[in-house]
Amino acid sequence: TFFQPTPSSSSTWVNQIHMEPSTIAAAASTISLTTRRRKRKIVVIMGPTGAGKSRLSIDLATRFFDNAEVINSDKMQVYGGLDITTNKITLQEQLGVPHHLLGAIDPTKSVFTPLEFRNVASEIISEIKSRRGLPLIVGGSNSLIYSLVTKRYDPKSDVFNGPDPHPVSSEFRYECCFIWVDVSLPVLNQYLSKRVDEMLDSGMFEELAEFFRSEEHKTVNRSGLGQAIGVPEFETYFTKFPGLRRMEGSDFQEDVMGQAEAYDEAVRRIKDNTCQLAKKQVSKILRLRDAGWELKRIDATEAFRAVITAESGGARVAEIWEKQVVEPSMKIVKHFLEE
Ligand code: ATP
Repeated sequence: TFFQPTPSSSSTWVNQIHMEPSTIAAAASTISLTTRRRKRKIVVIMGPTGAGKSRLSIDLATRFFDNAEVINSDKMQVYGGLDITTNKITLQEQLGVPHHLLGAIDPTKSVFTPLEFRNVASEIISEIKSRRGLPLIVGGSNSLIYSLVTKRYDPKSDVFNGPDPHPVSSEFRYECCFIWVDVSLPVLNQYLSKRVDEMLDSGMFEELAEFFRSEEHKTVNRSGLGQAIGVPEFETYFTKFPGLRRMEGSDFQEDVMGQAEAYDEAVRRIKDNTCQLAKKQVSKILRLRDAGWELKRIDATEAFRAVITAESGGARVAEIWEKQVVEPSMKIVKHFLEE
């Protein structure tokens, strides 16, 4: 009863507990400082498609932060299906690091919006924190990252698109360590073109053939997984040539139907659109940085240059990656956690 405040007059309450208003103000500011300190710490690994975000997250999680758990923030990889086309990290590549929101959403249902991502991912962060884990948010969709980390999120205010985008908020509900894996665009473009060829060789073509053949494409949401790069680009091809087989070698001489040409056109469009995506993602990151987001930029260009230069072996790439990407990132995260 002693501390019971009198609702009608706060000054009476102040008198009752014998505190000067200045003392109360000091106490309040201490409390607010403590609450500020108590904000949950998360690490966000951002960057354009292909920049090595997944690889970096696994390197950090397996070697330095064994309590880390990844929450995927790529808006196509949240859906189940088209694993090769959307370039999801495989179970083997995950090396036992727990992954959340990777292939977890039914692609035939409604689109998984940034607001839903905000709600679901924040629940996952709470669960990770309750087991004293470190949440690593990893993925290139800046609209998802934005929705998750901002203190107040208005789904109607699009801060990235349109001729007159809304102002970017830099008030966060978490204590965030933003790592931006950057690669010079001309170098990244060369790498991305090579990566598309590798993805096609490692099963993307067959995956898409099956997708169109099984009529799965009629059930997936057109505004969701149906927009994954590879789907619209290959649609004309598979409508005309529904067979599973890909043309190769001597087939091209007998290409009376124009199959090889249609295939080449689809691949060319995939490469173009992937490079466009990377460029757009970088411009969104720059918009966040210009609005005051403290992004720690890690330049991975040299490692990528080594990958695309035929004469460099894998060991050299690994060495550059280690020195220029993993080590600085590890130091940034360590410092952030100790703060
Ligand atoms: P926006 O604000 O335009 O929605 P975003 O930052 O939310 O952008 P991005 O990740 O830039 O999202 O994705 C934009 C588009 O790029 C997607 O709609 C899709 O067409 C394509 N895309 C993104 N990620 C992938 C992926 N993993 N596989 C295939 N296509 C992808």
